Amino acid sequence: MLILMKKSATPEQINAVCDRVREIGFTPHEIPGSIRVAVGITGNSGAVSPENFMHLEGVAECVPVSNPYKLVSREVKPDPTVVNVGDVSIGDGSSLALIAGPCSVESRDQIFRTAEAVARSGAKLLRGGAFKPRTSPYAFQGLKEDGLKLLDEVRREFDLRIVTEVKDTETLDAVADVADILQIGARNMQNFSLLEACGHLRKPVLLKRGISATLKELFMAAEYLLSLGNYEVILCERGIRTFETMTRNTFDLSAVVMIKHHTHLPVIADPSHGVGVNWAVPPLARAAVVAGADGVMVEVHPEPGKALSDGQQSLTLDEYRKLATELTELAAWQSDHG
Ligand code: PEP
Ligand code: MN
Repeated sequence: MLILMKKSATPEQINAVCDRVREIGFTPHEIPGSIRVAVGITGNSGAVSPENFMHLEGVAECVPVSNPYKLVSREVKPDPTVVNVGDVSIGDGSSLALIAGPCSVESRDQIFRTAEAVARSGAKLLRGGAFKPRTSPYAFQGLKEDGLKLLDEVRREFDLRIVTEVKDTETLDAVADVADILQIGARNMQNFSLLEACGHLRKPVLLKRGISATLKELFMAAEYLLSLGNYEVILCERGIRTFETMTRNTFDLSAVVMIKHHTHLPVIADPSHGVGVNWAVPPLARAAVVAGADGVMVEVHPEPGKALSDGQQSLTLDEYRKLATELTELAAWQSDHG
């Protein structure tokens, strides 16, 4: 159920509605809109009677919500969510968020060289994993705390915001100290303890689509975060598993369009994991921008051949510089002609 407030509703009247929601045992969510405020309700298993609210001052209408994902849906919040990270706005419809960096932080030299190139290319967001969830227990697991320290250093040195993955609840505090955006990886999309812990934080989360997750499952995972009060959620399409073997995953461009249509959350495309082959990343990155992605995340490495993880899908620093220029021009063209 969604309670639509009148345009003229005062903050006191909105508070009274929220108090009433709590009184009957549920959780209110104030949802600001360009025209009026709405109050969403979570915690109810069945329908909530409008009688509870219609007599309250400032209430215009009570509408049932048909989707199981309530708070992430466009039905509940027609205006797009904009996630602000320092001076970067993600989802504002006019600027394209560029996130680039290595799969893993490997050494001081590697992350400094990458960060410098990323900053020079115009990207404001540096990615890099310190705690890596790997398929094989024998594969490089990341520099862990030492990797976080290096990310913290490059952030200050190059004035970049940091996107880094949080692998589990045990390391969440340490990762959250350094991350400007917490990445929840594909393997953890339905790690409900981790989602709950991140839901209690007030820090942006980049939630990656699970390897075999439907969009509905992705939206329900995001709903965990929003239902606990963390509304700064960005969804990420990173490819799904299909019968195809020529690509690492199947990059689902339709997901970008569907996410924009069904939710108000910003969407980032990750063509690197989506296709898994470096030469195929630029065309798919451009396609994602045309499809309406709010940003693109790409893996880059100073020497992809020597990378400790995902070298085969990483662009060189020069390749990335060229791609960043192309994507920025493409996004500007789109916003002028769209
Ligand atoms: C990554 O971003 O390096 C990563 C591990 O991604 P995913 O969770 O999408 O596999
Ligand atoms: Mn990777």
